[in-house]
Amino acid sequence: MPHITRFAPSPTGFLHLGHAYSACRAAAAAGPDGTFLLRLEDIDATRCTAEFCDAVEEDLRWLGLDWPQPVRRQSQHLEDYTRAITALTGQGLLYPCFCTRKEILAEIGDIHRAPHGPDGPLYPGTCRHRSATERAERIAAGEPYALRLDMTEARRRAGSGLRWHDADAGWQQATPELFGDVVLARKDTPTSYHLAVTLDDAVQGITLITRGTDLFAATHIHRLLQALFGLPVPEYAHHPLLCGPDGKRYAKRDRALTLRSLRADGISPAEVRIRLGLS
Ligand code: GLU
Repeated sequence: MPHITRFAPSPTGFLHLGHAYSACRAAAAAGPDGTFLLRLEDIDATRCTAEFCDAVEEDLRWLGLDWPQPVRRQSQHLEDYTRAITALTGQGLLYPCFCTRKEILAEIGDIHRAPHGPDGPLYPGTCRHRSATERAERIAAGEPYALRLDMTEARRRAGSGLRWHDADAGWQQATPELFGDVVLARKDTPTSYHLAVTLDDAVQGITLITRGTDLFAATHIHRLLQALFGLPVPEYAHHPLLCGPDGKRYAKRDRALTLRSLRADGISPAEVRIRLGLS
């Protein structure tokens, strides 16, 4: 069956070989009869620049990839996320969290003993039990706040037996509770990675989500959000992260391995594909 796939980088730097691998896998997974889409996950206004956004398109084209226009840019759809946040708030599933990072760390105490989830220590729930009056007063006073999902309640509403399927790992029982009360709207923007990615994959009709194994666990949260919003459940294929000769995964710090620098060094797209093990 032809798939609709996507590559959804956050344009906070130039694309490196790891991105190229991920993008090529997504395009290949769509196949000749499917559709490969590009999405720019640029909700972080301080780190995503116009230069990086343009560079993503230019570098992927140089690699030989193509996609239908227009490219979906998350920063242009903040009102969609706000609507979704309003819906969850109306269902009593979100609560404002005024904590700073420092306060959370102080509350957690000994970080090594604190319960951890896949993304680090769990939020200790400080703001979950604040009274409606205190919340209203602090919001009225202009105190910045994030919105967190009441995970226990969300889990109860979504029911048990949420599953998703990964092409390599097989059927997975969704365990979003491992993450605790995740942030769905950050202090600086009315969304978060988890909310925006889940909604956008549905809006764009993605049927197969390919991405690195570093996001495998996050899929548990996305599956829960799909259930809460009544969204279709796509197929997943989490691929291994590409590592350099030193055994470490490629990252933005590897400037020498950006597609731009390889191109400047006279490396051809075909050579890049060979290096990625894709030819
Ligand atoms: N924007 C995310 C990143 O660059 C990836 C999103 C996804 O593939 O789900 O890490």
